[in-house]
Amino acid sequence: MLLEETKHMWDEFISFMKEKCSVAEYQNWLAPITVIDGDERGVTLQVPNVFVGDYLLENYKKELASFLPCDNQKNPIITFVIAEPKKTKEEKPKPLPQTILTPGYEPRQGVRLNRGYTFSDFIEGPSNQFVKSAALGVAKRPGQSYNPLFIHGGVGLGKTHLLHSIGHEIKSMHKKLRVQCITTEAFINDLVDNLRSKTVDKMKRYYRNLDILLVDDIQFLQSRLNFEEEFCNTFEALINDNKQIVITSDKPPSQLKLSERLIARMEWGLVANVGIPDLETRVAILQYKAEKKGIRIPNKVAFFIAEHIFNNVRQLEGAINRLNAYCGLMNLEVTQEIVEKTLSELFSFAPKKKVSVEKILQSVSSMYNVRVQDLKGNSRAKEIAFPRQVAMYLAKEMINDSLMKVASSFGGKTHSTLLHSWNKIKKQLEVDETLKRQIQMTKQDLES
Ligand code: ADP
Ligand code: MG
Repeated sequence: MLLEETKHMWDEFISFMKEKCSVAEYQNWLAPITVIDGDERGVTLQVPNVFVGDYLLENYKKELASFLPCDNQKNPIITFVIAEPKKTKEEKPKPLPQTILTPGYEPRQGVRLNRGYTFSDFIEGPSNQFVKSAALGVAKRPGQSYNPLFIHGGVGLGKTHLLHSIGHEIKSMHKKLRVQCITTEAFINDLVDNLRSKTVDKMKRYYRNLDILLVDDIQFLQSRLNFEEEFCNTFEALINDNKQIVITSDKPPSQLKLSERLIARMEWGLVANVGIPDLETRVAILQYKAEKKGIRIPNKVAFFIAEHIFNNVRQLEGAINRLNAYCGLMNLEVTQEIVEKTLSELFSFAPKKKVSVEKILQSVSSMYNVRVQDLKGNSRAKEIAFPRQVAMYLAKEMINDSLMKVASSFGGKTHSTLLHSWNKIKKQLEVDETLKRQIQMTKQDLES
């Protein structure tokens, strides 16, 4: 087989992949590769860096095997050569560039890692298990697992906590690696300062020579066009060198008003959500933080607090601080009365009537004139299945408890059935005014 033929096979592979992957993926990973040698014993590909080669094998081995020569185990036989100007193919690929310090440069606005934000201080629950394990994975093998890791979620749910935890873990496990944590605001301010004092090159060199860059609150890069481009360049330079990037944001990448290029880059690795912790997790967080402050909260009272502060962990901490100040000063036990007195402003509403699955079922049953028993059953007849889906929708919207538990109250349904119903009704609500009114009425009925 001649080199010409190898090139032809590679072109076929590329046109096959063009159909299969996104434009960004193609441009980042496939377009920069060139065939420099090949016969039936294998091919030699030139890649811009080691990462591209690894990526290719990790993600497209099967596709490569169907186009290129393979060994007995059906593995494609490829030798990668790192592109270098004027380099001949006999030369060995260079190792990853060593981190070089930029003398005399420190970002003026770098963030010190908060000592309290460590993995061991982070309480796990169903809403954050996945993101925590992704964060741990990144900290254990920076640059080798998910890159970038993109963490998104609402205010006060632990994004910064996780970001700093990664920083601490890497610093303790890999002492030589250079870790920098910045807020997006700080990055922009730094850039402004350096533009003013004409030291941008120094700054660029500094950021591009980091091993790990932790970026907090990327949403602040929205509508900052000039800065976005510089950030994107830094981002690409680091990723191409296999350096780890972790980003936090209040929204997923696709909802950020940023360039398509940057959004595509950020979606490249793993996008993970930090959700609102369920009741049990909130109680566990509350108890953990209380214990650290040396205050004891009876479980019943902890549940009471966690039932009323439900969408922000930072507020739970605020509650502990208030209780600590109040009870510590007066030397009092934490009781429900004290909690009501000291925390009422923190509770975002006066304690509502507690909504239960049973109450929702009763309300839906009278609205649609079906029996509760049938709502809990398995009949697929439309006149029963639809009200059942409405009840499931309401339960997910109104009851702040684990989905599994809520679903099982519907005669032992699974949480995926519940989610499916919720999704279906949610979609229908967008187009169905009658349903909207019916649901509003049921909600009012339940809450009053
Ligand atoms: P975000 O960056 O998402 O707005 P933070 O990371 O600043 O939120 O978290 C707010 C506060 O809540 C921090 O003090 C953090 O330690 C605490 N916190 C959030 N989630 C957890 C958790 N799962 N376990 C323990 N503390 C948490
Ligand atoms: Mg934060």
